Amino acid sequence: MACQQFDLVADYLQIPTDDRERLKVPKRSLTVAVPIHRDDGSTQVFQGYRVQHHLSLGPTKGGMRFHPDVELGEVAALAMWMSWKCALTNLPYGGAKGGVNCDPRKLSVTELERVTRRFTQEIISFIGPQVDIPAPDMGTNEQTMAWMMDTYSVHMGYSVPGVVTGKPVLLGGSVGRREATGRGVGYLANRAMDVLGLESSKATAVVQGFGNVGSVAAFSLARFGVKIIAVSDAFGGVYNQAGLDLIALDKYVTANRSIAGFPGGDLISNEQLLELQCDILVPAAMERQITGANAAKIKCRILAEGANGPTTPEADKIIDQREEIFVIPDILCNSGGVVVSYFEWVQDLQSFFWNESEVVDKLFRILENAFTQTLTLSRKNKVSMRTAALILGIQRVHQAKKMRGLFP
Ligand code: NAD
Repeated sequence: MACQQFDLVADYLQIPTDDRERLKVPKRSLTVAVPIHRDDGSTQVFQGYRVQHHLSLGPTKGGMRFHPDVELGEVAALAMWMSWKCALTNLPYGGAKGGVNCDPRKLSVTELERVTRRFTQEIISFIGPQVDIPAPDMGTNEQTMAWMMDTYSVHMGYSVPGVVTGKPVLLGGSVGRREATGRGVGYLANRAMDVLGLESSKATAVVQGFGNVGSVAAFSLARFGVKIIAVSDAFGGVYNQAGLDLIALDKYVTANRSIAGFPGGDLISNEQLLELQCDILVPAAMERQITGANAAKIKCRILAEGANGPTTPEADKIIDQREEIFVIPDILCNSGGVVVSYFEWVQDLQSFFWNESEVVDKLFRILENAFTQTLTLSRKNKVSMRTAALILGIQRVHQAKKMRGLFP
């Protein structure tokens, strides 16, 4: 998917063949074995990956995913998207991504710590505040980042908070980082409502995934007055046309680690949820949720892509024909996370910390700029919002490579 999207834009921009290879092939791809002792005394070996897509604009940046399906191709695609996302928002980074093919729900806390520390040790010469700065993604969180930061710091002999972002605030994390991605989704969906002339107090939203991104996006949209009528996670979904009680739902999920069984609405499958009539649809779980098979059936006005790669190129072709749907593409829509990760890194390097209103104000300024530039280019060149966002990102990386030469 990532390569197909790149090729389309490279054709559009008439990027020479030699330059395409350099833009596409990751600079570094690392595969490591991550052996751990399980609590029952047995030994298990997981596979860990880290891909750094390009170094032309600075160190690389991107999340660490713990999920059983993690594999090198997926990580490489996500690293490429991170590159375009960082360039679109003018952050001084190349893209990276990483992960371990483990299921965090099937590991104890001590086992998770062992996976994280061993994985960090295996990739330690390839990360660092000036080299590559990991962050949380699916299946990882502030605790994972604290373990990574500690393992790296033990190796160096002193505390290095700037090696990861998305840490606990106490250890040099930034206020507002945990909420940043979902908050950005809310902000941009609200901007899209302005563009379409929709009133937020009359709008409805459906959110797939109720993890970090999905839950905060739901709350953020609700704060703009939007009614959240359905949400789901990997274990089930809940639907209530009158609007879900998000506070009760959040408490339920904290207690039960899943939405399944929440009494405040009717049961709904993930497939049905994506096809509900609503104003805003927020896929905030996995890749490839909107496909050639269901793209003609979705019934939203705004598709706000909280997840990375939720829409396949086949689905894109169908949605491009459906002019009533306004797409906020993933590299724009979920960029709030990496923007506040950048703020966290800057604060760590300076050991000078900002308050939440400074963080949110600076976040919204960057998102506003990226949104306006994407919308303007999309209208001027009569291309989709996704193509416009990719053009801005890819063009900047291409220019940087041309200016610098072959090294990065
Ligand atoms: P998370 O692990 O906190 O939450 C993921 C949620 O998706 C969970 O509720 C899980 O149950 C649900 N889910 C998993 N598989 C599903 C399925 N098949 N159907 C429905 N729900 C399913 O992860 P997150 O950090 O919220 O990340 C979600 C997405 O957002 C990913 O694509 C990630 O790459 C992207 N993203 C995250 C961030 C960030 O800051 N966390 C930033 C940018 C992009």
